[in-house]
Amino acid sequence: MYRPRNAVPESGAATPGNDGEAASELSILRDVLRMLPNGVTVQDEHGRVLLANDAAAAQLQIGADGIPGHEHRREAAREAFRTGQPLVAEESFVHEGGRQVFLTRHHPVRIAERDLLLSSSADITEQKAFEDELFRSAYYDELTDLPNRRVIEHRVNKLLQAGETSPFALAFLDVDNFKHINDYYGHAIGDALLVEMARRIAMNLRASDMLSRISGDEFVLLLHPVQGQEEVAEFIRFMLERIKAPFFIDDSEIFASTSIGVSLYPEHGGSYDALRHNADIAMYRVKNAGKGAAAFFDDSMEREAQARMKVEQSLRLAILEKRFCCAFQPKVDIRTRDVIGIEALVRLRDDQGVIQAPGTFINLATELGLIDELTRLVLADIVRSIDLINETFGHETTISINVAAKQAGNPEFMRPFAEALEQTGFPKRFMIEVTEDAFVTRTSFQDEILPILRRIGVGISIDDFGTGYSSLSALADITADEIKIDRSFITDIHKRPRSQGILRAIESLSEALGMTVVAEGIETHEELAYLQAATRIRYAQGYYFDKPIFLEDLKRATPPTSESRGRLASRPVQENRTGYSRAAGYRR
Ligand code: C2E
Ligand code: MG
Ligand code: MG
Repeated sequence: MYRPRNAVPESGAATPGNDGEAASELSILRDVLRMLPNGVTVQDEHGRVLLANDAAAAQLQIGADGIPGHEHRREAAREAFRTGQPLVAEESFVHEGGRQVFLTRHHPVRIAERDLLLSSSADITEQKAFEDELFRSAYYDELTDLPNRRVIEHRVNKLLQAGETSPFALAFLDVDNFKHINDYYGHAIGDALLVEMARRIAMNLRASDMLSRISGDEFVLLLHPVQGQEEVAEFIRFMLERIKAPFFIDDSEIFASTSIGVSLYPEHGGSYDALRHNADIAMYRVKNAGKGAAAFFDDSMEREAQARMKVEQSLRLAILEKRFCCAFQPKVDIRTRDVIGIEALVRLRDDQGVIQAPGTFINLATELGLIDELTRLVLADIVRSIDLINETFGHETTISINVAAKQAGNPEFMRPFAEALEQTGFPKRFMIEVTEDAFVTRTSFQDEILPILRRIGVGISIDDFGTGYSSLSALADITADEIKIDRSFITDIHKRPRSQGILRAIESLSEALGMTVVAEGIETHEELAYLQAATRIRYAQGYYFDKPIFLEDLKRATPPTSESRGRLASRPVQENRTGYSRAAGYRR
């Protein structure tokens, strides 16, 4: 215990004549005081420490003159002396072990005719660190250390409340294909990319600008003040250039880009929400127009956004009202012309009763989270039509259903969907068509979903092969029953030596891996003739054989006969055709 000479007398000496019991009590008290975890000091009116227990002595760096080394400690003490009022102060001391924070209560007291200051301090270092952490996590993004959505919103609204007259810009940035990058390289690299991306975006910002990460791969940038559109455009052009340079992360060279939408105050809105919304709309335009660029908001975009909203609404309504049906396209053996399978291709009947092809709504349905329901409707339609399917195409034909890569990797959808396939009673007739992305991205498709489908006997097909992200070598890791070569390789194949080479490579690789090859989109006799003459490919789909067919039209046209099993005795109604086109059935 710190006790300078000439300070308050030793307890024993202060109470002459006390009996042994009092002395021992006092000695205990002294020890208790000494060992208290809280720091306790007594100071005189000059700030000199007359008494300090061990904890206080360790904190205060008391000089030879009895004065504590910490300036603010002295200030608080002086203040308490001056006012004669108790005072609570937060005091922090930095020493070798780091920073310590104390909550100190200073109590002016009068003892034995002397004005003294009694101080006790509790160590709140941990609590303080926790509070700081809470503060940071409430306002700062942990990964990039950037302020979060609340901070930038507050900042912009503050500018507006202050009657801000100088123009400023709000940019909405969204990393392109970030999900792909994340799935392909894994989350650790995805995170590292975001950190590096944030660093590149934040380069050359002024103290009055602010960059904020508002969610996963989205950033909002405030440029304040700005001269006008030209200046902002120039600044963002440089930023886009910086972002385009490859990112080197963990031995990977990653190319990434960002789509940017910009709104200007005051032209494009008078509140944070309005400005952000309009920047978002401009960003959306960039995404649709090829990504990796920037656009300023304008009024035509607003109208576009409203139109898109209408499409969204009508798609939601169509799902709700189950205005979907399937067209079926046969998959044929090109030598025998037997139909070996059919593919269900979904169609939407819009509010005007017009049939829409999936190109107009599948992506939107996926984006809006409606695709799962749509796939369930497709399966329901097949189950409902199974008798007609059997009568038309035979009892043995496989039935292919397209599943978006996003769904394929999602066990929450796929588990119950596999169950539904099993419950049809004929799971072995189904094939699931997924694009190669489902295999190469790191989702649970390969490990978790595939085994379930295999167990119930559902076949797997790789759709649109050659258009996705995987390379030929990736095929070696894929376990599927069938590979469908995308139409882009098949069109005019007889005239394209390079595509012929690729086709041969895919063919021999697939053969080695035991996968059936299907050529998609055969339209002409020349394409078919080439496949027959130059390849061993046996199966194909395409308008040359059949366009997708509506079964109900077929039913309406000709009642099936017992002879029509396994082949089509009557001519089906095909999409985009008027009347019947072919006299022969499916076995041609
Ligand atoms: P896909 O699975 O590759 O289906 C083949 C597409 O090519 C179909 O277009 C078909 O009508 C078309 N097609 C077939 N033969 C020819 C041909 O000779 N020439 C040309 N030009 N086209 C041909 P569709 O029905 O418009 O479907 C487009 C895509 O929409 C499908 O491509 C598939 O990826 C997706 N899709 C269709 N139905 C569903 C579904 O129920 N769920 C999901 N997730 N996607 C679906
Ligand atoms: Mg398909
Ligand atoms: Mg395809």
